[in-house]
Amino acid sequence: MHTLIQDLYPICRSITGDGFRNSLRRLAEFVPIEVTEVPTGTAVLDWTIPKEWNIRDAWIADASGRRVVDFRASNLHVVSYSIPVHTRISLADLRPRLHTLPAQPDLIPYRTTYYSEDWGFCMSQRALDALPEGEYEVCIDSTLAPGSLSYGECVLRGTTTDEVLISVHSCHPSLANDNLSGMAVGAFLARHLSSSSRRHTFRFLFIPGTIGSITWLALHEPEVARIRHGLVLSCLGDPGDSTYKRSRRGNALVDRAAAHVLGRSGAHRLLDFVPYGYDERQYCSPGFDLPVGCLTRTPNGRFPEYHTSADNLSFVTPEALEDSLAKALAIIEILEHDVACVNLSPKGEPQLGRRGLYKNTGGTSPADFEMSLLWVLNFSDGQYSLLDIAERAALPFTTIRRAAIALRDAGLLITADERRGRFETAIPGSASAPVRSRTSGTHASASSG
Ligand code: ZN
Repeated sequence: MHTLIQDLYPICRSITGDGFRNSLRRLAEFVPIEVTEVPTGTAVLDWTIPKEWNIRDAWIADASGRRVVDFRASNLHVVSYSIPVHTRISLADLRPRLHTLPAQPDLIPYRTTYYSEDWGFCMSQRALDALPEGEYEVCIDSTLAPGSLSYGECVLRGTTTDEVLISVHSCHPSLANDNLSGMAVGAFLARHLSSSSRRHTFRFLFIPGTIGSITWLALHEPEVARIRHGLVLSCLGDPGDSTYKRSRRGNALVDRAAAHVLGRSGAHRLLDFVPYGYDERQYCSPGFDLPVGCLTRTPNGRFPEYHTSADNLSFVTPEALEDSLAKALAIIEILEHDVACVNLSPKGEPQLGRRGLYKNTGGTSPADFEMSLLWVLNFSDGQYSLLDIAERAALPFTTIRRAAIALRDAGLLITADERRGRFETAIPGSASAPVRSRTSGTHASASSG
């Protein structure tokens, strides 16, 4: 993931243009990505697809022709979406167009002017302070013209049409945590999920922030209706603690799944929904109100490197990326496998030791797995789901799930859906009767702890 981030880092991305397309092409080497182009001027919800922006070069040069600000050194130097300009101008007249961070004098800020036609440069305060008064040549070799907005989609079909939406804004230039870490974790998550069987259909969106999610929502009403769970991914590579921002609903399964995973992984933050942040703002707008939360490490705006040249390749670490990917996968495991089950031998505890499920060393405390067997058997009455049980037992979902699989393999457990199916399609009792007869009349397992 860190290598992918290094490859993507130099590309000058924006909400439209070749930098965005080239980045999708690079991601497409990892996962199948279908690119859609939406023409400039297309109405999308209350917005309109903007003109397409492309840039080749930009600089500020002093009287001797020396570049004192150079786009080739950092693409953050140009305000994103700057219109073309080539002129001579005094430093005094140029100053209002020069953006700096006086409190972080060595850093270049990241600025955009997407929706008003303007131009400007970004530089460190220290570099600005070093410029003598006088006349400078400024050039922005860009085009802002009718074209299209591009977005990438990777759809992994499941056994059902219920969808999990994973949304990643991919429109920032040389910024590693926001947003290249999200792109890398998203691509690797998609690659991982593509190699296993899936109940849900997974839809990964690599889109420009705000306008991209608005565009996708406007053009995909039928798919929107199928979204059961969703995550926005960003800022997943910094060394800070993991953070989950709940969906607007606040108690959706994805909210509970993320709280369970983060709650068992050390220091973390759980935040309630606020109508500010990333594309969850659009998915959770009241007209959609989708169960989509946002997974980050340190949230946007809360780390000093945010939207500056310090959000660079050394700020994101392979360890943090790997940890974020593991947490996203753990959340998805719950979304995929949280079902309610039914204990087929509910009168007394079935004898687990006889079935090789329970170690017969009396007197010792049962390990997590054995404890999970008892929890799953006791609460699988069709009402409690495996996540409900994991929360109540304060045990990892993945252990509870492993216990459920073992009990199912032993003929002691079926899912509530399976039971409903049997009662509808088979002669009442016939399908499950052999299972019951095998387990009836046994006493508690040998070791009671
Ligand atoms: Zn950002």
